[in-house]
Amino acid sequence: MVRGTIDILKRVLDESQYTVALLGSQMKEEAGFLGLKSAEKTYDIEKKYKMSPDYIFSSVYYNTRTDQFFEFYKNEIINVDLEPTESAYALAAMERAGKLQCIISNDVFELPQRAGCQNVISLRGSIYQNKCLHCGKEYSIEYIRKAKGVPLCETCNSVIRPMVYLFGEMLDSRLMTKATEEVEKADVLLCIGTDLDSETFQHYLKYFNGKKMVVIHEEEHYLDQNADIVFVDQPKNVLPKLGY
Ligand SMILES: [Zn+2]
Repeated sequence: MVRGTIDILKRVLDESQYTVALLGSQMKEEAGFLGLKSAEKTYDIEKKYKMSPDYIFSSVYYNTRTDQFFEFYKNEIINVDLEPTESAYALAAMERAGKLQCIISNDVFELPQRAGCQNVISLRGSIYQNKCLHCGKEYSIEYIRKAKGVPLCETCNSVIRPMVYLFGEMLDSRLMTKATEEVEKADVLLCIGTDLDSETFQHYLKYFNGKKMVVIHEEEHYLDQNADIVFVDQPKNVLPKLGY
């Protein structure tokens, strides 16, 4: 394992035929959204809603207390105005320069897509996709925001489902397969804003047979030794410096 420098990373990217990036939770933290399971956020939610984020953002709660679920969803998830960060724009520039072939993201805010990234797999879905599961009609995020109480389908009056992953659900198996195939193809795997023990990503790491694994995250972690190159820094302090 070596400590990363911009020069080393540029060389690795130049030599790679296929580079894939896994984006972890620090990417959305950079944009100002603390994960629901972070200590600070958990405390706030428990204080305000008298229950844990694990429960309030779960499929059980969505199905049984739909009105309270949407109150929480509208106030805490979609009324937060998150803008893509410098890191997300740097990834889009890397993609345009042919240095990045696929991005696997677990944020529901489409931060990379809104910065201009094209080939993104959003494992946990998107707050911008909302659908009536009964008749299939699709709705914008504005429709959900403006709905009084539970958003209902104009055509069939069923509840409109935000197409995001809720705790207790399975991730979309089609997307997981696609993500696995991308990781298998990669020469270089960039793990950005995540520790290698992230639950979501551990699954993918075992499919990586490429040449170099690069980790860029804020704090050192004992699993860093499994990577080839490690940056202990915020992604926004590294990616834009590549200068693509
Ligand atoms: Zn409908």
